[in-house]
Amino acid sequence: MNDRASTSVSCVSVRVPSKVNLFLAIRDRRPDGYHELVTVLQTVSIYDTVKARLDSPNAAHPAARRFMELAFTQDGGGQVPADDTNLAVRAARCLMEAIGVGTSDRDGHPDVPMTRLHLSKAIPVAAGMAGGSADAAAALVALNHLWEADLDRDELRALAADLGADVPFCIGGGTALATGIGTATAQVLARGAYAWVVGISDRPLSTAEVYRAHDEVGRRSDIEPDAVLQALRTGDAEALGAALHNDLEVAACHLRPELADDRAALLDAGALGAMVSGSGPTVVGLAESAEHAASIAALVADRFDRVEVALSPAGGPEIVRD
Ligand code: ATP
Repeated sequence: MNDRASTSVSCVSVRVPSKVNLFLAIRDRRPDGYHELVTVLQTVSIYDTVKARLDSPNAAHPAARRFMELAFTQDGGGQVPADDTNLAVRAARCLMEAIGVGTSDRDGHPDVPMTRLHLSKAIPVAAGMAGGSADAAAALVALNHLWEADLDRDELRALAADLGADVPFCIGGGTALATGIGTATAQVLARGAYAWVVGISDRPLSTAEVYRAHDEVGRRSDIEPDAVLQALRTGDAEALGAALHNDLEVAACHLRPELADDRAALLDAGALGAMVSGSGPTVVGLAESAEHAASIAALVADRFDRVEVALSPAGGPEIVRD
């Protein structure tokens, strides 16, 4: 990666975007319970930030990093785990293991450097926008830089695949086609910028529950992403709006019938297309421009706990100045 400083750093912040699935088709369920899928993902401009700080006088010396203590804080509220199960922490531990840094029994020893990780959340939680996956990707990118581990994006993606289906995509961001269980990603040609109305609910919807509902009420689909890929190739927002597709929408609306009305309300307000994002309950509407999105947002604001106007594609994890 070329975003490394030439001298040691003691603090780094990484801003990471959320995503929408412009296309999501569920194929077969594998014997291990995972679903094969074909999806086109694009990052959108609602961001979390992961800040990592190395807190030790000896930390700059590589030998001092054979062991590392990790402390984690977050400001995402009660829905976001504050312990080792947080995906940002799991990502940190995964990177430590990959580069041979242990936590060991030397806890509390003054020479063991401490890395403090802080997560600032703006991406809605359990909302179908890959918030946790984005945080895992941001933690990998931040700590790879802070610890001067020097893994390239492909090596980070390989680690990411063990953390969750969307994490490899979140490492690179942009626009990608993902297959398999979602971890095999390839960037696709995408022209143009798109403006979205993002309707957010405070009531989370579990991805696992939506997949279970899909097994009950959904069916295997053969639809291909050609129309979405063609719209992206030509930068045609109207064609993209018409081509948006999400096989999980049936299951999400089965669990939350009001989502179908939310989607209809976005279309009635003038959206070029609308759908449940991923496993929901976020509902997104595609607009002609940011101004158009703002006018749609004003019309549908009452239906949601929070409405945002967001732009896509929104790049990938990015090292930012504090
Ligand atoms: P996806 O779109 O990838 O299916 P999502 O946006 O629906 O994911 P997340 O916001 O990633 O869902 O949260 C899913 C669950 O993961 C939450 O209920 C939460 O308990 C857990 N979780 C772990 N780490 C995080 C994190 N850093 N941010 C949010 N949730 C996290």
